[in-house]
Amino acid sequence: MPDLPQPALRIGYGWDSHEFKAGIPLKIGGITLPYDKGLGGHSDGDVLLHALTDALLGAIAAPDIGSLFPPSDPQWKGADSVVFLRTALERVAAAGYELVNVDSTLILAAPKIGSHAATIRKRVAELCGISADRVGIKAKTPEGIGTEGAAIAQATVLLAKKERASSSKHLPTKHKKQR
Ligand SMILES: [Zn+2]
Repeated sequence: MPDLPQPALRIGYGWDSHEFKAGIPLKIGGITLPYDKGLGGHSDGDVLLHALTDALLGAIAAPDIGSLFPPSDPQWKGADSVVFLRTALERVAAAGYELVNVDSTLILAAPKIGSHAATIRKRVAELCGISADRVGIKAKTPEGIGTEGAAIAQATVLLAKKERASSSKHLPTKHKKQR
C-alpha cells in the first residue's frame, strides 16, 4: 500500500449488551456497583468497557474485541475487562494516535446509574489516561424496547494523531498562554 499520510482525527464507535444474572457482581465502567444482579458473559461482563474497547479498536480499524479476546478462549473466562481496554489503548498508541475524548450511553432499567455516574466517569477517565472532563457518561432507561433484562452500552471516541517526536517537545507555553 502506498504510504499515505494518516488522518489527523479518527472516530470510533462501539456497542455491547449483556444479560443480568443473579448472584454475580455488577461491573460497569471498571467499578463494582451495589446490586443483587450482575452482567453475565465470559469475562466480567463490563458492558461499558467492552463498548469503549470496541470504539477504540474500531477507530484504528483493528480487529474487534471478540476477535482479539474470543469467548471460546478459556483464558478470558471471568477476565477483568480492564485488560481488554488496556490492549485497545496500546493499539491506539502503536497506531500513532491518542485519545481526545469519550462519550457513552448506558441503557438499563436498573439499577439507577445517576448517583454512580461521577464515580464511573472518574474511573473510565483514569483507565484511559485522560481527564474526567473528557468523558461523557449518560444513562437512559429502555423505554418500549423490551430490554429490561439486559444492560446496553454505546461508546464513541475521538482520536487525534500524535505529533511527531521532533515537534512534540514539552513547550512551557503548552498549558499556560502568556498574557
Ligand atoms: Zn461484552
